[in-house]
Amino acid sequence: MPELPEVETVSKGLKLKIVGKKISKYQQFRKNLRWPIPTYIKEIIEGTVVKSIGRRGKFLLINLDVDYTIIIHLGMSGRLLIYNSFDKDRKPSIENEMGIFIHTIVKLGKHDHIKFDFDDGSQMVFNDVRRFGAIDLIRSEKLVFHKWLSKLGPEPLSNNFSPQVLQKKIENKKCSIKVAILDQGIVSGVGNIYACEALWEAKISPFKICSKLTDRDCYSLVRELRNVLKKAIDSGGSSLKDFKATGGELGYFQNLFSVYSREKLKCKRKSCKGKIKRQVQSGRSTFFCINCQS
Ligand SMILES: [Zn+2]
Repeated sequence: MPELPEVETVSKGLKLKIVGKKISKYQQFRKNLRWPIPTYIKEIIEGTVVKSIGRRGKFLLINLDVDYTIIIHLGMSGRLLIYNSFDKDRKPSIENEMGIFIHTIVKLGKHDHIKFDFDDGSQMVFNDVRRFGAIDLIRSEKLVFHKWLSKLGPEPLSNNFSPQVLQKKIENKKCSIKVAILDQGIVSGVGNIYACEALWEAKISPFKICSKLTDRDCYSLVRELRNVLKKAIDSGGSSLKDFKATGGELGYFQNLFSVYSREKLKCKRKSCKGKIKRQVQSGRSTFFCINCQS
């Protein structure tokens, strides 16, 4: 499931590929993804130009010149596939360094649900096998009030997030710290993988109750959350097998996980002789070292 770094990677791909282009045609091929796809999208966005690309938490924001913003959530398996118009040979999927297909789409696939055609002949397709993705459109000035965005907590890489902010948000919570940092209202964009990684880096047990976290814990956790997210952004986002960033499979960062998906393997911390354990916590797999995360 794409988390903040993966969505950031997709937004970087879109900045390179679709900013400045006019949307000449918009088509949707089903009524709903996770939620109904609004039918008014077509009449508002056709003929508009993509002004800029943003991100809030795990949401992609496509800002249009008419002061509307398209909001896209990739859900579990959503992908935005960019097809360039200039390859007349229609070669099989050749990807450039951003993982973007460089041929024109020949035929829509079963899981291609939405298609944007741009005036230069290129196309963007929203493909989503599991259909947990979502799309909506809102006036840009009302973006912060949108129901998907209005309750989001601070961006972890911004100055709005700090050890003090985290502490304030969790000090009275009775849940575990792992569950808390997955709560998008406490901090936005963090999912299961980077929550496990940051807690391991900070040597904090994922099961520690929020109200028991010390000042030092909060300080370490905020620092390590930022570090793991930045590292993943630098690596172009991680990849699970069903996630592709704007077309390309980004399979490399998962080799760099310190704790995630490493059940029964030796802890990667040099000074530690522990083994990694997996335990289901609120329905999600938590990976942790019993030895150094106590
Ligand atoms: Zn360890």
